[in-house]
Amino acid sequence: MAVLLSGKELAAQIKEEVREEVGRWKAKGVTPKLVAVLVGDDPAAVVYAQAKEKALKSVGMAYELVKFSATARQEEVEAKLKELSSSPEVHGIILEFPLPPHLNKDRLLSALSPLKDVDGLTYENRGRLLSGEEGLFPATPQSCLAILERHGIEVAGKHVVVVGRGETVGRPLLPLLLRKDATVTVCHSRTVDLGYHTRQAEILIVAAGRPGLITGDMVKPGAVVVDAGINQTEQGICGDVDFPSVEPVAGYLTPVPGGVGSLTTVMLMKNLLKAMSLQGCS
Ligand code: NAP
Repeated sequence: MAVLLSGKELAAQIKEEVREEVGRWKAKGVTPKLVAVLVGDDPAAVVYAQAKEKALKSVGMAYELVKFSATARQEEVEAKLKELSSSPEVHGIILEFPLPPHLNKDRLLSALSPLKDVDGLTYENRGRLLSGEEGLFPATPQSCLAILERHGIEVAGKHVVVVGRGETVGRPLLPLLLRKDATVTVCHSRTVDLGYHTRQAEILIVAAGRPGLITGDMVKPGAVVVDAGINQTEQGICGDVDFPSVEPVAGYLTPVPGGVGSLTTVMLMKNLLKAMSLQGCS
């Protein structure tokens, strides 16, 4: 039976580290502040925004939600992002998705200061990630690596297979893993014989958004399996890994819920603190 790699205790531990650092900033008269910009009223985006607000405030960070109606003009939203980017009181900015279809995502992201881009979505941060330079990078891939690192699982020299090449998880994982000297294979929906590739993995990281995609016969015995999927099903929230068949085969396995997803918000908090240091706050 696989050893379960819980994200919950780790999240609590990182939250404590963040709280202490926030305390040090506040003692200097600076409150770390994140602003989220939401256009429209997508129910899931509203729920995520509220959850972030609660979490950030619980560690003493400031949070503000700037809302635009679903009919907001491109210029209005761009102007707001530029204003927030130049405000010294704001240290991090998130543009919430999905956006209404009439808005141009790339142009909006271009209006965002890369130094405040705590989701790591601007071209500048993506370029920095690829070229091995310091910058702000997406939270979920960092959560996958943190869960391995804090459980003492080395990635250097290992064959890591990533399933999914989405913008928020799979794609940024590739350069992050290369930085850590892993040998990486990335699979996607056009990969032929997915199981052939996943069975080669010493560490398998799955972020496809397909419940039950990875079954026990697709996992090398003893492998480390990190499930970043979060899927809402009739039975509740589940990952991309078929837990009952994979648990007896894998050596280590992250549960869903209670695994990678538990770490995303604390990684965002860490990104906000990193943004402050990149901005030269003192
Ligand atoms: P996405 O942008 O839709 O990307 C999904 C990726 O999976 C795509 O690259 C797709 O391939 C690939 N894929 C889909 N079906 C596949 C199949 N049958 N075989 C192999 N690959 C397949 O999704 P995402 O935003 O990266 O999110 C992925 C998952 O992570 C979702 O479950 C999401 O909820 C979860 N997530 C979790 C967190 C967290 O906090 N833990 C944060 C963000 C996302 P193509 O590129 O060929 O289409």
